[in-house]
Amino acid sequence: MEQNHFDCIVVGFGGVGSAAMRYAALHGWNVLGIDRFGPANNRGSSHGQTRVIRKSYFEHPDYVPLLQDAYECWDELNKRHRTAPEVKELLTQCGVLQVGPEDGTVVRGVLNSAGQHGLAVERFTSDEIHRRLPILNVPDGHVGVFEPEGGFLRVELCVAAMIKQALANGATMKSGVQVNAWQVDDHGTVHLQSNQGSWSADRMIVCAGPWTGQLLEGVDLGLTLLAKQQHWYQLDRVEQKRVNQFPCFLFEQSDGACFYGSPELDTLGMKVCEHTGGRPLESADQLDRGIDPDQQTRVETFLKQHFHFTKQRLVHHSMCMYTMSPEERFILDHHPDHQQIVFAAGLSGHGFKFAPVLGRRLVQMLDGTPDPKFDFLRTPKGDR
Ligand SMILES: Cc1cc2nc3c(=O)[nH]c(=O)nc-3n(C[C@H](O)[C@H](O)[C@H](O)COP(=O)(O)OP(=O)(O)OC[C@H]3O[C@@H](n4cnc5c(N)ncnc54)[C@H](O)[C@@H]3O)c2cc1C
Repeated sequence: MEQNHFDCIVVGFGGVGSAAMRYAALHGWNVLGIDRFGPANNRGSSHGQTRVIRKSYFEHPDYVPLLQDAYECWDELNKRHRTAPEVKELLTQCGVLQVGPEDGTVVRGVLNSAGQHGLAVERFTSDEIHRRLPILNVPDGHVGVFEPEGGFLRVELCVAAMIKQALANGATMKSGVQVNAWQVDDHGTVHLQSNQGSWSADRMIVCAGPWTGQLLEGVDLGLTLLAKQQHWYQLDRVEQKRVNQFPCFLFEQSDGACFYGSPELDTLGMKVCEHTGGRPLESADQLDRGIDPDQQTRVETFLKQHFHFTKQRLVHHSMCMYTMSPEERFILDHHPDHQQIVFAAGLSGHGFKFAPVLGRRLVQMLDGTPDPKFDFLRTPKGDR
């Protein structure tokens, strides 16, 4: 007979939900994970071949201890996942080069985080960057900071590996199942209704990415959505774009616009995206997956300004969504009326690298275990 009651239900198993499922199962809970599109799907925010990971976090030094934990978690997961040399690694440390005006948000922020936490970074002038990576064109007056420990995560492989570990530890998975409603009864039990049945649990973790606002209707989170296009290009200048020859990169321009990418790997070209900008969306279901010519033009203008080549070819593109919180900081919290419900929201386009620590933290929150490393996320931004 199918089981209907669980210790914990996780709604959504993208990056954070798959990690939460895994840690909830490792915690000994009988876990049900539900996702409307299934494992490693290309409909939410955890898809598109790679996610950049870096430790000298320009966004704020308080994220660094979480990143140090995240590196350990990815390493541990990778050891379980990489059962043979031909299995692709989850995390590739090809380094990250972050370029921008010396007093800009990125370079200043990277150096600040590296200085406060004693992280290894190397600083280069525009001439030095050009000598090392001749394909790059860095404007005079802009500098680069190279972080050797940075790199990229293979996003779909990471999600699949976390789900595999969750299942190996006893979790149950329901794919293609959409949660439509939930209630809490007088005994504190959470009841879920979906398009394919109903289940109940003692606790619930909501990791629905861009759909979180819909599932937590009535909780004022101030979330907004941006449609973001990921592009893969083949440039006619082939040297130094492939992995092991070229790092991930992030360029802040003088006007504050920010572009980033990862080296060419597998059969796709070099990935290039804009971190700033994006098209506002009313709801996640409204996303148009066709190509957005404005985002393409902005990325191609960036490429022409900062890379030397004569011809480029867009070989692939894919639409994704940023779920923005008002201050671009992650929101990890209990439901205001139900302590047995926790959620992660508003990862603001930089959450994947933290997925295992966020998933683990959600489980700890339900368990009542404190972790002061996360306290900064609750402090008003001006006080940090
Ligand atoms: C283009 C792009 C580039 C990015 N680059 C980086 C980067 O380089 N580094 C980095 O760290 N981060 C990056 N991010 C951010 C990062 O990818 C996200 O913060 C992270 O993947 C969000 O994961 P999530 O689990 O919260 O959401 P999602 O991955 O969106 O997962 C939510 C899941 O919930 C499911 N769901 C929703 N509603 C329901 C429902 N009612 N019933 C059942 N299931 C439901 C969905 O099907 C989905 O699978 C990027 C994001 C984008 C879009």
